[in-house]
Amino acid sequence: MTSTDDKKADTNGAPATDYDVVVIGAGFSGLGMLHYLKQEGRSVRVFDKADDIGGTWTWNRYPGARTDSESYYYCFSFSEELLQEWSWSERYPAWEEMLEYLHFVADRCDLKKDIQLKTTIESAIYDSENSLWDVKTNTGEAYRCKYLVSAMGLISELYIPEFKGLDTFKGPCFHSSRWPKEELDYKGKRVGIIGAGATAVQLLPEIAPDVESVTIFQRTANFILPAGQKKMTPEWEKEIKSNYPEIINKCRTHVFGMPFDSPVDRVSADSTDEERTAIYQKLWDEGGFRFCFESYDDLLSDLDANEAASDFLRNKIKELVDDPETAEALSPRGYPLFAKRPPLDHGYYETFNRDNVHLVDITNAEPIVEITETGVLTEKQLHEFDIIVLATGFDALTGALEHIEIRGANGETIKEKWSSGLATYMGLCTTGFPNLFMITGPQAPFANLPTTIEESVKWITACINHMEDNQYASMNVSEKAENQWSEHATEAIDMTVMKYGHAANTWFLGSNIPGKGPSTLVYFGGANNYFDMLQESQDKKFSELEFIELA
Ligand code: NAP
Repeated sequence: MTSTDDKKADTNGAPATDYDVVVIGAGFSGLGMLHYLKQEGRSVRVFDKADDIGGTWTWNRYPGARTDSESYYYCFSFSEELLQEWSWSERYPAWEEMLEYLHFVADRCDLKKDIQLKTTIESAIYDSENSLWDVKTNTGEAYRCKYLVSAMGLISELYIPEFKGLDTFKGPCFHSSRWPKEELDYKGKRVGIIGAGATAVQLLPEIAPDVESVTIFQRTANFILPAGQKKMTPEWEKEIKSNYPEIINKCRTHVFGMPFDSPVDRVSADSTDEERTAIYQKLWDEGGFRFCFESYDDLLSDLDANEAASDFLRNKIKELVDDPETAEALSPRGYPLFAKRPPLDHGYYETFNRDNVHLVDITNAEPIVEITETGVLTEKQLHEFDIIVLATGFDALTGALEHIEIRGANGETIKEKWSSGLATYMGLCTTGFPNLFMITGPQAPFANLPTTIEESVKWITACINHMEDNQYASMNVSEKAENQWSEHATEAIDMTVMKYGHAANTWFLGSNIPGKGPSTLVYFGGANNYFDMLQESQDKKFSELEFIELA
């Protein structure tokens, strides 16, 4: 640590810094950013409040936590050697394996010595006079850097609703992303899970066989797709490893960053009912998101096409869940498929056929009144528990950035700026916050995350190179460019069924957080188009940005 007063100007006369770049977060984004910047010889310090690297994969340790993207493309693509060396054990690896993989990358790329764990960045204040960021940690350390990168993840700021009496519960009660690191003995216990999103869908089947009972409190039913989990075989691994350049290229050119064969060049109305059912059944059997991306080109834009797929999924629930009343309660209604992020299923529906598993519909049947010392009191009864898990989601995209005091050139915080309307330039930077970059920031695409992250990291690295090559002191994005992007992001979402997500409290629109949405938090104009735009921006030497030369 250096006191800012002790710092000397460098040989170019630029004010001195501790690091060229400070990165907040040591998950996929932070590790990727660190690697790319180190390759360019930049000095970088990565800070993370967790006691391990891994981001989402170090926080989300609940039983059953695993990827929803398939392992072989849920990884960094920058090194063919690492792709060949690492072996995945299954199609959707569990959090432990993801964490092992990220350690493998960090070790092989010698990243760890530049990462400081257990350190929370409390503030980052832009010093306009010197064109530098002053960063302070919770431990009282202060650092100066020229560039600040947020690599905090889009779904990292946890959200706990203000349930009356929440603090009174006598047993363990925690958000799902804070599952205790030390062994939590849930075997033979009565467990309540509030929330029925992607997290609960993974957690329930994993713990149900071991607990005395488990009860899910569901507000909105989800469309849930079968995962089709399977072990990696030597043959499959060989096929993947001999095709990596093609797989990576497919990710780069796919609307959701996944190596799928789409567009498929057919619309739903072209098929008869029987043909449609056969197509959906085939994709249902294959598992994963192909159901949405390899069925029909208009599935995510046309309500009739979407309704046909939704009906297919509702019929599957009836087939899988024995009790008709439970099946109906689990059937999503009133919003289209993918207006809310569909979780992948590892036996969720069948789990409701167990005698020790219960569903409480808190919208139509039993609204929650309060949490008591012993459980969850609804309008009908007290459900008694030993453990309560709050699988209640996240203040996505803006939450983590607004939680830190990040002050831009005019002294305004990012939270204050966005309070009058969210606007970013491609989710990468925001006007008035010079030399600040965001990875998976608001209005960036929601797609296979490692692909989006790596393409964003490449753009940021190129932008910093451009600035250093030209001896620029600062970069700001013009209001015009920012407004154009934000309008374009809204136009893009308006062309999809995602715009109806408000009816289902989706985090895509911020509608899961009281008072937050709806606003356009995600770019749904195609990750492939976004990557092309990033490349064009680099080719045009970042002409949409305003640079100021060193004094
Ligand atoms: P989520 O999908 O937002 O689900 C939160 C749940 O809590 C919802 O069922 C929600 O109900 C409920 N809830 C929120 N406020 C409530 C309240 N006041 N009273 C009662 N219930 C309330 O959160 P998540 O399951 O943690 O998943 C969030 C995202 O993280 C996912 O969409 C996904 O992108 C990511 N994720 C990914 C993976 C993976 O890839 N393997 C795994 C887990 C999560 P409503 O639906 O009515 O709002």
